[in-house]
Amino acid sequence: MSQIEDSGYEGEALRLLKQADCDIGDIIRVSSKGKVYEGILIPRPELGEGTIVIVKMKSGYNVGIKVTKDVKLEKVGKGTKPTFASPPIPKQNPALPHVVIMSTGGTIASRVDYRTGAVRSAISASDLYGVVPELADVARVDTEIVFSLYSENITQKQWTELAETVAKRIEQGVDGVVIAHGTDTMAYTSAALSFALQNLPVPVIVVGAQRSSDRPSSDAATNLIGAVKAAGEAPFAEVGLAMHETVSDIGIVVHRGTKVRKCHTSRRDTFKSINGFPIAKVKDLQVTMQTDQYQHRDAKKKLVLKPNFSEKVALVKFYPGLDPAIIDFYVEKGFKGILLEGSGLGHVSKFCFDAIKRAVAKGVLVALASQCIWGRVNMNVYDTGRDLLSFGVVPLDEMFPETGLVKLMWVLGQTDEVEEAKKLLKTNIAGEFSLRTLPQEKILEGGQ
Ligand code: GLU
Repeated sequence: MSQIEDSGYEGEALRLLKQADCDIGDIIRVSSKGKVYEGILIPRPELGEGTIVIVKMKSGYNVGIKVTKDVKLEKVGKGTKPTFASPPIPKQNPALPHVVIMSTGGTIASRVDYRTGAVRSAISASDLYGVVPELADVARVDTEIVFSLYSENITQKQWTELAETVAKRIEQGVDGVVIAHGTDTMAYTSAALSFALQNLPVPVIVVGAQRSSDRPSSDAATNLIGAVKAAGEAPFAEVGLAMHETVSDIGIVVHRGTKVRKCHTSRRDTFKSINGFPIAKVKDLQVTMQTDQYQHRDAKKKLVLKPNFSEKVALVKFYPGLDPAIIDFYVEKGFKGILLEGSGLGHVSKFCFDAIKRAVAKGVLVALASQCIWGRVNMNVYDTGRDLLSFGVVPLDEMFPETGLVKLMWVLGQTDEVEEAKKLLKTNIAGEFSLRTLPQEKILEGGQ
């Protein structure tokens, strides 16, 4: 199948490439302003201009040639289709714990096509195992592809599918589960699984990478080895999210699934525990617990699966000048829950009050988390907060907006009864509420 339509090229460049029957990966010759460039046609870089043709020269350098009327372009050779031979699966050691690695997509499950420079989501869980052969010394690894998606394309449907798949493998008796996932929405998935998989007998660790697994600078191997080690042997049995602890490739930290957030666009230590402490660290193949408050591993525990999430829940971020018609819009569309991302201790403008009252009167569950992220909502301090409470808005204490949103989706996936849903929303299911606000300096330091 031709890749030229999806290559990002447009206008005269696309016309010329099609006219010359060129596809991505073909060898082309471009003549412009008396110079001739010959090399492999590669896709347009994400932020590049669509009318500049990019050629990977023999030297390895990429050259961009602006396509004008005088430019000549011809195909001089057919490209060989990119192939990826799966590395051999390492030998299993029967004395080691049994861990299943599920792959869902994202950078950790991607590889670079070095010929064209593009990153493709094409590596299966068993390829991952082959790329990181050290895993064979850590666990008996079994692999499974659940889906292959960039995490921005994951919805409640995939959370349900994933929770059900994990439950099935746990019921079969594995010692731990690792889920390879894109980092963009990995924390939403870890929160979703935390609510959907209750009374876990073994750990479930979601893991990602900021650089694909076949790049020399990849963080995938360290993250994956650490995650598999924790899944197979750690004494806790909760949903955790494992990534680099610092920018160095030394060790990983496992955050609690409901208390973690992606905080940096590109750093390897992008994930931070928010309003809570990490559960464990893994360094030099040693698991060290970071807290004594955790659910314990116990193979006798019977997993409780509650995999349903409502799709009729919206997040409304308050900002100066927010038009309350946005709240009315969701109510008219039949939404069952609205999470307000309020300012400071838990406020939205008085201009939104009538719309909120209308929403509550229609049976919509309206909850509030603070956009400050750090700290706890306290709606008893100022009139605004008290007014909102009197309308029936439910404060989510120290839950930051993403976890609050996932919890609201989960709660409304369990019941349509507003009072019951409110009660469930305020019940601590997976460590999303702690008894007291932890000192922020300690949290920022990442330890007790
Ligand atoms: N945006 C993609 C995702 O979240 C790739 C980024 C990543 O995995 O870090 O799946």
